[in-house]
Amino acid sequence: MKLHEYQAKEIFRKFGIPVPDGQVVTSPEEAVKSAQGLQGPPWMVKAQVHSGGRGKGGGVRVVSSLNDLKMATEAILNQPLITKQTGPEGTKVYQVLTEESVEIDRELYLAIVIDRSMARPVMIFSQAGGMEIEEVTARSPALVLKEFVNPDVGPMPYQWRRLAYWLDPLPEPQTLTEVISIMARLYEIFTDLDCSLAEINPLVLTKAGKALAVDAKMTIDDNALFRQKEILGIDDPREMDPLELRAKKYNLSYIRLDGDIGAMVNGAGLAMATMDVIKMAGAEPANFLDVGGGASEEMITKGFEIILEDKKVKAILINIFGGILRCDVLARGVLAAVEKTEIGVPLIVRLAGTNVEEGRKILENSNLQFLVAKNMAEAADLVTKQVS
Ligand code: GDP
Ligand code: MN
Repeated sequence: MKLHEYQAKEIFRKFGIPVPDGQVVTSPEEAVKSAQGLQGPPWMVKAQVHSGGRGKGGGVRVVSSLNDLKMATEAILNQPLITKQTGPEGTKVYQVLTEESVEIDRELYLAIVIDRSMARPVMIFSQAGGMEIEEVTARSPALVLKEFVNPDVGPMPYQWRRLAYWLDPLPEPQTLTEVISIMARLYEIFTDLDCSLAEINPLVLTKAGKALAVDAKMTIDDNALFRQKEILGIDDPREMDPLELRAKKYNLSYIRLDGDIGAMVNGAGLAMATMDVIKMAGAEPANFLDVGGGASEEMITKGFEIILEDKKVKAILINIFGGILRCDVLARGVLAAVEKTEIGVPLIVRLAGTNVEEGRKILENSNLQFLVAKNMAEAADLVTKQVS
């Protein structure tokens, strides 16, 4: 689950990481009103969307009068924001953050993520922060420092010092202390709130020698949301793909992709393998869908409806290895979905495992048109032929 910048900054404040004063608003009038409680001009106007790269896309603006503030807010709210991370259609902006502007001396980068290969959190730090961070680090990886944290022991103070004292030129001692304190507090946030990402870019050093988080990005591990009720309460699902949102409601692991072969599979591993064989046969999957081992007939129905609703889908592959999910349950679920929605695309079925004969019979005795594949390779070939 992704947080908006203003939500992450609220959390930063609570944990003692300094951030600029600001207010989230939904209209130009509100923006003007909010500025009266803020120091300035100049003020910052910042689109609140779940994608980065807003600065370069016109989603972050400096304004120097109330009138400019009003116009900038209007402009940001009135058109989809297109950044490197949104895709060409852009993202609708519902909220804008108005903020005091900060006098920037240096822009640093600070983030904590999980390093999967090391199986532990890693703090990433660079003095080349700001909007060019991706380009800079791709060209000069030496500009990025990492500290791995042993999660049992927690971070050691020397680790933060090693990162901070690497700054060149070295800031004043008071500024360094502030940077180190921000590192320690960001780690607290990361672990207390079950983050998969906590990022400050830029972490700004001001001309007056203060350190503060000018931007804030947080992603919470979905698997931990059951114990992060407060965070769950501030979820803003408006940017989520509508089909993915529906799948989530039914507890289906569904991810929409760009291809045209819809796939319904049980088990994440089998779903990945199915995507691979589809690609190897020369086609592209339209989705990842793992209906899960214990899927009920209703979940199958909902999953199938979601695949059918994706207008890109030109053929559907059902690949089920019956275990806990029996093939007959699968067959009945598919038929229930088809009763409500007509399927206008070819359907390829590969079933194996528990109650496979019964499952096949249920499908055969219906008036559903489908092709049977003996194995996965044949299934992928058959489904690819339907679209090529
Ligand atoms: P992002 O592009 O989505 O990461 O948005 P950011 O919040 O990081 O803003 C982009 C850039 O705008 C930053 O790297 C800064 O250079 C600049 N910026 C953000 N806030 C301020 C501010 O208060 N004052 C000034 N002068 N520049 C700012
Ligand atoms: Mn940023």
